[in-house]
Amino acid sequence: METLTGTDALTTSLDRAQEDYAALVARGLSLDLTRGKPSAEQLDLSAELLRLPADRHTTRDGMDTRNYAGDGGMGLRELREIFAPLLQVPADQLLASGNSSLALIHDCLVQALLNGVPGGTSRWLDEERVVFLCPVPGFDRHFALCERFGIDMVAVPMTEEGPDMDIVERLVAEDPAVKGMWCVPKYSNPDGVTYSDRTVQRLARMRTAAPDFRIFWDDAYAVHHLTEEQVEVGDILGACTRHGNPDRALVFGSTSKITHPGAGVAFFGSSPVNVEWKLDYNNGRSIGPDKLNQLRHAQFLKSADGVLAHMARHRALLRPKFEAVQRILQRELGGTGLAEWTDPKGGYFITLRVPDGCAKAVVRQCAEAGVRLTPAGAAHPRGDDPNDNLIRIAPTYAGRTDLDEAIRAVTVCVRLIGHRKQLEEQR
Ligand code: PLP
Repeated sequence: METLTGTDALTTSLDRAQEDYAALVARGLSLDLTRGKPSAEQLDLSAELLRLPADRHTTRDGMDTRNYAGDGGMGLRELREIFAPLLQVPADQLLASGNSSLALIHDCLVQALLNGVPGGTSRWLDEERVVFLCPVPGFDRHFALCERFGIDMVAVPMTEEGPDMDIVERLVAEDPAVKGMWCVPKYSNPDGVTYSDRTVQRLARMRTAAPDFRIFWDDAYAVHHLTEEQVEVGDILGACTRHGNPDRALVFGSTSKITHPGAGVAFFGSSPVNVEWKLDYNNGRSIGPDKLNQLRHAQFLKSADGVLAHMARHRALLRPKFEAVQRILQRELGGTGLAEWTDPKGGYFITLRVPDGCAKAVVRQCAEAGVRLTPAGAAHPRGDDPNDNLIRIAPTYAGRTDLDEAIRAVTVCVRLIGHRKQLEEQR
């Protein structure tokens, strides 16, 4: 009798979800929540950049940014000074280079493979095997780089404090093939986790079998607060130095989600030895960075406080969107036992956890109703989520009406797939 009642209730819930889904399909939606891009309104916050540097093309010490050279290949000092405290890298150890931190990360991997890194005894290409630890869920493009270059990936689960450090410490100590590790230390993509001080200290201190082990510290969301609380993460370069591993961490960041992703400035920071290593590569690759763009960024952002004030304007646009997603998820899925979701204090994503084995089906069902989501599994190496239960929601780009509609569509698909699975399990 007990089971029958449960089955009846489930059948009713499934019928309702099927009706809602049919209504959804009838609406003929065409919505896209795939990637974490700023909205047009966010881009407009930096509209002044398009009018800078006007005719003021010299730096504060008189360098003509239109020409080659003058910056030693490091990028403009005034811009590096603005971002040094935000990325926790001394300005003398911070390069401003290109427009994409992912490109800098790519170049570091290529350089490590072709030339090796300081402290190594051979270039990575000559190693029998190169392994990177991949905290999961993580950033799909990090994993894609590993795939591209034949780097093996070992998934490490994330906890509320960052990657599971017991596992990390064991793997790096055991195997000299483990040469690197991905870290998105603040408001991680996609879980929104910020590494605890304890995690930062352990990463800096741990014994690694490889003498040339590197942490790729991708601080992509360093200033992307969604609440009044400005969450801070420990200073990885300082901690590595204190623990006698000064060359361990490579820090990356960019203005992609501060100003204009298509025309921003990227940063690389590390120990003086690693900065020399990177400069050597950069100087062979290009006579110098786009100093005019760096100057207009320095003129526009003015100071570290100027960056934070600018990010508060982003927050004013983003927070209502993130709150709307929370509201709709709670209203439609709260108490169903079908989903859990993150409520991040910063960054660009919300992670929706559905019953095991359902994420791909939900994403497929959404696509059939005209709502595109990031492919399920994308946050895992090789796109393979063994539990098939994670969906990444990117609320930033869509307008409010589209966003509300898309999230409601997602909840209908979660109910449809989830109840179907519950019913199958009862039979
Ligand atoms: N790193 C992370 C963790 C990201 O989420 C992103 C963009 O989504 C990037 C890097 C890309 O940064 P950039 O535009 O500077 O290449």
